Amino acid sequence: MLEKSKKLFERAQQFIPGGVNSPARAFKSVGGTPVFLEKAKGSILTDVDGKEYIDYVGSWGPMILGHAYEPVIEAVKETAAKSTSFGAPTEIEVKMAELVKQMVPGVDKIRMVNSGTEACMSAIRVARGYTGRDKVIKFEGNYHGHGDSFLINAGSGALTLGQPSSPGVTEGTAKDTLTANFNDLNSVKKLLNEYEGEVAAIILEPVAGNMGCIPPKKGFLSGLRELCDAHDVVLIFDEVMTGFRVAMGGAQERYGVTADLVTYGKIIGAGLPVGAFGGKQEIMDVVSPVGNVYQAGTLSGNPLAMAAGYALLSELYENPLHYDELEEKTVKLARGLKDVLEEHGVPFVLNQVGSMLSVFFTEEEEVIDFKTANTTDQAFFKAYFHQMLENGIYLPPSPFEALFLANSLTEDHLRKTIEAADESIKVAL
Ligand code: PLP
Repeated sequence: MLEKSKKLFERAQQFIPGGVNSPARAFKSVGGTPVFLEKAKGSILTDVDGKEYIDYVGSWGPMILGHAYEPVIEAVKETAAKSTSFGAPTEIEVKMAELVKQMVPGVDKIRMVNSGTEACMSAIRVARGYTGRDKVIKFEGNYHGHGDSFLINAGSGALTLGQPSSPGVTEGTAKDTLTANFNDLNSVKKLLNEYEGEVAAIILEPVAGNMGCIPPKKGFLSGLRELCDAHDVVLIFDEVMTGFRVAMGGAQERYGVTADLVTYGKIIGAGLPVGAFGGKQEIMDVVSPVGNVYQAGTLSGNPLAMAAGYALLSELYENPLHYDELEEKTVKLARGLKDVLEEHGVPFVLNQVGSMLSVFFTEEEEVIDFKTANTTDQAFFKAYFHQMLENGIYLPPSPFEALFLANSLTEDHLRKTIEAADESIKVAL
């Protein structure tokens, strides 16, 4: 098993840091050899050794209708034949902006970038430019890409300034990032009172996905909305994961709370490198060339990426039934997994929002924040993960990532997954 993957990984490590172009792919938290993939169709991945897997990663989110989705492939082929990039305006960018506005509440204006990281970095620059303030509040366990301002740990107490969580991030940057606890409005209130008039923005994943799937508690998002209004702070929803996934209009639609700025990635590019930030006209008007907050990109709004994203978003817009079907499939999988876990007496918490799902192997009653997420039994996850892989189920290689379901999953895939979970838990115990 994994013969060719092993050889490729050895070669890769000679020339690429850790053998991968993004750290999560290296299987560091589960150990072993990362699977090198060759192709995929719908929900089935094929690795370089020819083994097939049912996919629950979906390229970390974009593949909501499955891999090699025909309308996306066709759009890319057709567009590529006309040139891969102009660095000049094209009609597809206009169509894309119009479509996003129709799909999402509150996005008056939108700018395309090349990744979720870029989108979040740009959104906080815009918030700072708009408010004339420097500080940003983020939440422990939320991830907004690898921009300097986001690679910050909480200090020793809720009211202390942040510390760089990566060498290369300066103390100067860290002092402008404050960290609050997810689902804890009081921790936010404390920071806002302590730094009254200094906070430009609050940024969060409205459904956290980067410490496993953690939904917002009732009143958390609306509470943040109220706090932002009271303190003139820009509310930024990072919908890189949740956008076009937890509902057509993302978490804003699902929870009925409208942010001031929103960031996108993943689904918006259908697997090509795309990110976007958008929101209220008044705020977006500070962006260059209307205003003087600078932001640019040689490949921003790239025709291939726009064509792919437009093809996928159009399908989701025209056939909203996809969301009902996805929810139904995810609930079915969740039910099956719960039955299996209960049968084997494994303590767990299962969180599910739309087509995002995480199982935490924990004795806690609920998983609502970074602290409770961290109680998950990582050694058990590791054993479970490798058994699932062997049984042909491709899960995210970390106990702190959400599964992303695709509507290409069939009843048969779900049944096989539940059977594999049963087998895998037996062995992992
Ligand atoms: N924001 C969230 C919520 C994410 O999950 C991610 C990536 O996983 C990012 C931002 C960064 O996006 P990218 O990896 O496209 O830079």
